[in-house]
Parts: sequence; C-alpha cells; structure tokens
Amino acid sequence: MSKLEVDKTRPVLVTGATGYVAGWIVKRLLEEGVTVHAAVRNPDDRSKIRHLDELAEKLPGTIRYFKADLLDNGSFDDAMAGCGIVFHTASPFTLNIRDPQKELVDPALLGTRNVLETANRTDSVKRVVLTSSCAAIYGDNADINTTPDGVFTEEVWNSSSSLGHAPYSYSKAVAEREAWEIARRQSAWQLVVLNPSLVIGPGVNPHGTSESFNIVRQMGDGRMKSGVPDLGLGAVDVRDLADAHLRAAYLPQAKGRHIISGHNTSLLGIAKALLPNFAAYPVPRRTLPKWLVWLVAPIVDRSTTRKFVSRNVGFSWFADSSKSARELGMVYRPLESSIRDMFQQMIDNGLIPKP
Ligand code: NAP
Repeated sequence: MSKLEVDKTRPVLVTGATGYVAGWIVKRLLEEGVTVHAAVRNPDDRSKIRHLDELAEKLPGTIRYFKADLLDNGSFDDAMAGCGIVFHTASPFTLNIRDPQKELVDPALLGTRNVLETANRTDSVKRVVLTSSCAAIYGDNADINTTPDGVFTEEVWNSSSSLGHAPYSYSKAVAEREAWEIARRQSAWQLVVLNPSLVIGPGVNPHGTSESFNIVRQMGDGRMKSGVPDLGLGAVDVRDLADAHLRAAYLPQAKGRHIISGHNTSLLGIAKALLPNFAAYPVPRRTLPKWLVWLVAPIVDRSTTRKFVSRNVGFSWFADSSKSARELGMVYRPLESSIRDMFQQMIDNGLIPKP
C-alpha cells in the first residue's frame, strides 16, 4: 500500500458504512488519514457505529456520519457533497428473504441508481468504486459449462438468475448493469467495479449480520457436523477486499470490472482449512450425497431450492482473478489464516460454543 498515493485533501463517501465489508474499508481509509463520510441508515443507533467511532478515536483520519437510505432519493446529497471518491458498498446481502423484489432488488438496483444520480449532481466526484459481486458474473455453478474456457472471467455476465431463482445474485447483476449504463452516459466520473467472491475473515464489528457470518458460524456450531453439500465457490479475505477498494479508488489506471477472489475452493475446502486449528469443534469433514441434499435442503432451509441444488451442487468453481493481480497489484492471503481469524473471533465473542 506504500506506493499508493492516497488523496487526503477531499473527503470520501462510504455507503453502507455499518456493513462487514465497509468496516474494513473505513478502517483502511482512517489509517491513511482520510476524512470519511459514513452514510448509514440510522446514525442514532450507537450499537451499529460504536466500532467505527472506536477506530476513529485512535487513527489519524476523521469520520462524519450522514443519514441516508438507498430507497430515499436524494438522501445521499449531503453525504456526497465535496467528496472526490464514492465507495458504494450498501446492498443487502441476505439469503433468508420473503419478498425478493422489495428486500433485495429494489435496494440494490434503485439504490445504485440513487447513489450514481447523486454523483451526477456532485461536481467534486471523480471516481465511484462499486462493490458488485461474483454473483453478477455467474448465477449457478453450472454456468461454468457455458463460459468460453470453463472459467469465470470479467467478460462473463450472470444471465441465469431471476427474481424467482437466486434473487440475491439477480439483484447484484441488475445493479451492476445499471451502474455501467449510468456511467456510460456521462464523463465527469469513472466507474471502477469490484466483483468479490464469498468474503470471509474477521469483522471490524464482531457481531456483523452479513450472510458471511451465518455461513462460517454454521461450520462451528454443529449444524453442519454430518457434512456439507459438495459446493464449489470462491473465497476472499475481507481485509484483502478492503485493500482492493483502496487500490481501485487511488490507482489512476484502475478500470472496468475486477474479480476479487483469493481461492477457488468449496464449502468443504473452507471447512478443511479449519481442521489444523479447530479439530475439536464439530467442523464438517465430508460432503453429503447430492440426492440427499436435493431431498432435504428445501425442508431444512427455505432459501435453498431443488433447482439451486441441481445447478450448483457437484460443480467445481473456477474464477480467474489474474486481472486484480496484474492491474491492482493484489496479493491474497492464505485461506487458512482468513478462516482461522474469523472462527477464533466467533469463539471469543460467544457465537460458536466451545466444545
Ligand atoms: P452487510 O454487512 O449486510 O452490509 C450491507 C450494508 O448495506 C449495511 O451497511 C446495510 O445497512 C446497508 N443497507 C442495506 N439496505 C440499505 C438501505 N435500504 N439503505 C441504506 N443502506 C442499506 O453485507 P456485506 O457482506 O458487508 O456486503 C457489502 C457489499 O459487498 C454488498 O454490496 C454485497 O453485495 C457485497 N458482497 C458481499 C460478499 C460477501 O460474501 N459478504 C460477497 C460479494 C459481494 P444497515 O446496517 O443499516 O442494515
């Protein structure tokens, strides 16, 4: 990071500053001495921002809170005023939903439109860094069979998700498409997009509500002790992802989409990375037969449909993140250290019971 020229003369906006990913972005910015405009839904809820205040107390940068909601047009105006860079991270990441349009697609799509139209009205903004997702690149693991070389790249777009199937992935795909569309119609600011795979690693706030916490917690609290679905996925450390955001913001040549993923792995691969340090815990050690997952999963978990199982379980996952290394200079830390630090934090905070 020493080579990065961080502009401290203008404040930057971080949307969704209470979130898991945003927490580390804010921390890195405060370390660099930047003034952070933190857009949050409810700045009066101290429980959601205490961890950020604690950081700001000991780091050189400054934090200012602004009330803003993705669904409230114009509510980012004050937060964005005077900012040179906008980090747009806010978007719900939850799989347990009842109304996909209202709970996922509206905040993702209308929220992106709201934030980027505010950028259009704010002369100081020169760059927007959008936290998209690998979910905007692929919908189901089976999509790998229709990619040109059997690998997910920045050229690929998710065309298999819909409101009725994988709605979170759909929300990320339509939001990123909208961002590119708005960016194309103007020349005042540049759009740089990051497409992270599953984010793991400790939270700046150990009590985060991102789906990442649920997935890792289930690996230690016994719910997965009889095994996990054979599900390929990518993983990246939240601290590496924050680093990628700063690089995307401050490297002049940063351009386009970037897969941010440290490891082509699987649910079992993540579980196995826990074994050297946490073998005494009920960590999954095997995969379950696909037919059993197909039969039982929708009963155990409403959000896992049989179509999801058919098109994802038993498929490997490969993404090419070489652009992030080449153009952003990304170096990813080992999977074992990401999962160890997150699991240990959950134990220390009573989220995973001691065996
Ligand atoms: P998170 O902790 O749940 O953060 C989501 C943030 O969005 C929260 O700050 C939340 O605010 C905010 N938000 C949600 N609805 C909002 C609304 N209507 N108005 C204003 N703010 C709203 O999730 P995360 O994992 O950090 O995700 C951050 C970003 O990374 C998202 O864009 C997500 O799609 C992307 N991403 C995450 C992963 C992953 O594995 N975690 C992987 C790829 C991409 P409240 O605190 O008020 O709810």
